[in-house]
Amino acid sequence: MNFKDFFNKFLLREDSIENIEMKGDWNTPQQYGWSKVDTGILKSARGLERIKTKWKLDQPVDVYLVKGKDVRKFFELGEVSYEFITNKMGLDILPNSDHITVIYTQNTGEEKIPATPWTLAHRLGHALARKDGIGGKNDLYENIRNSVNRLFNEVSKNVYGVDIKDDYLGYTNPEKYKRNRKIKKELGHSLGTFKSARDRNLREDFEFVNEIIAQYIITGKIKLNRELPKILPTSYAWGKASGLYKRNLSESQKEDMKYYIENSESELEYAVDDALNNAIGSIFVM
Ligand SMILES: [Zn+2]
Repeated sequence: MNFKDFFNKFLLREDSIENIEMKGDWNTPQQYGWSKVDTGILKSARGLERIKTKWKLDQPVDVYLVKGKDVRKFFELGEVSYEFITNKMGLDILPNSDHITVIYTQNTGEEKIPATPWTLAHRLGHALARKDGIGGKNDLYENIRNSVNRLFNEVSKNVYGVDIKDDYLGYTNPEKYKRNRKIKKELGHSLGTFKSARDRNLREDFEFVNEIIAQYIITGKIKLNRELPKILPTSYAWGKASGLYKRNLSESQKEDMKYYIENSESELEYAVDDALNNAIGSIFVM
């Protein structure tokens, strides 16, 4: 990163949420998909301000938190059109075509965690993956996923001696597919430096992708662990972990792996940045 990039990223731009607004029925006792904790966070004096200052991405974003009986039916759709939010959802939101527009209609995601700045960033990750409620439509999100899969496979193969490339195994070899996903999830726990990785609490292997997107949005970078555990625990019996054992690597192999992981960080940062750049002018419903 040169000085100009550094200046823009960390000194000039304090945050990049341009506008954060609560819309709809926030004063009714009905929850409509937002927990009491969510409402508490969002309605507290500094709630919105906190989210605003915690998001450190370069791209300008407008965030809308909408609560309502009818609007909650529209969730986890990903990218949608202006006609959709206006005619189908009945919202009076005028998106800025120079910004990313994110509309949260509830917070009942699989993880059931409160609407913190991190959770909302994680859910933007999910939103980037989808179009009109269908997954895997965004090529740039797929790029991030592919980079993660390459990283997982390189580490698994070189450090633990197991090849987990499994493009179509789900159909042809479901047992091996299941095993590979378990290995990926543990690799996510070992490589990730965010809370859910430290707590070994990723819901599924692919959540690693949304967590690094959140890490990038909140910290402006992606940080991976260089040190990998002696045993990659893929099962537990009576409290004892068993799984894949680290191979004996030569000093130069260790150096190569460190270098590979370091490179992956930049590769992932570029990929996430690309996906966010491409999201400018788009509207997302989560
Ligand atoms: Zn998730």
